[in-house]
Amino acid sequence: MNPANPLQTPSLARDRSEREGQVSRPTRAQAEEAVRTLIRWAGDEPTREGLVGTPDRVVRSYEEFYVGYEQDPEAILRTTFEETEGYDEMVLLKDIPFESHCEHHMVPIIGIAHVAYLPQNRVVGISKLARVVEAYAKRLQIQEKMTVQIANAINDILKPKGVAVVIEATHECMTGRGVHKPGVSMTTSTMLGAFRDDSSTRREFLAFIGKV
Ligand SMILES: [Zn+2]
Repeated sequence: MNPANPLQTPSLARDRSEREGQVSRPTRAQAEEAVRTLIRWAGDEPTREGLVGTPDRVVRSYEEFYVGYEQDPEAILRTTFEETEGYDEMVLLKDIPFESHCEHHMVPIIGIAHVAYLPQNRVVGISKLARVVEAYAKRLQIQEKMTVQIANAINDILKPKGVAVVIEATHECMTGRGVHKPGVSMTTSTMLGAFRDDSSTRREFLAFIGKV
């Protein structure tokens, strides 16, 4: 946390200290051993031929599923462009696909995110918006928190006139276990600034993403 840095706002600072505070990473061998324990817990024998390479594959999959802990949304959004010819209309990236994992069951959350902001002097490369979605998705998540984190990161770094994030996702912990409701999807949204205060801006965004 750097109080001299005006771009460093409380929400991102908190996000970073959470990351730094959590790490006492086991070794790769310990992680693989944990997978063998879970295989035995499931009722199978980790030394049989079909399972012998599984711990290694699971651990490598985890490196992909949770790579977001290595990514810094603040750094991703830091490069902005100011030569916008005064462009001050909505910038919207819609249908950004993502895969995340529910922090309660560690099973997939699969969905799409729609991210919009109203620029104020600065814009960011659109691929950066997708990368911010990815940085938060590739962690243990709940959809509500992920929605707020994406909106706050864009709001804190770009300081736009407004930010809107809508996420629609299915949760395997609801479809593949528990209440078993396949096809059910959840929608969450965070509206900041003009998207919260100005109903015509909000309506324009919702129309763009096909929600009105
Ligand atoms: Zn869950």
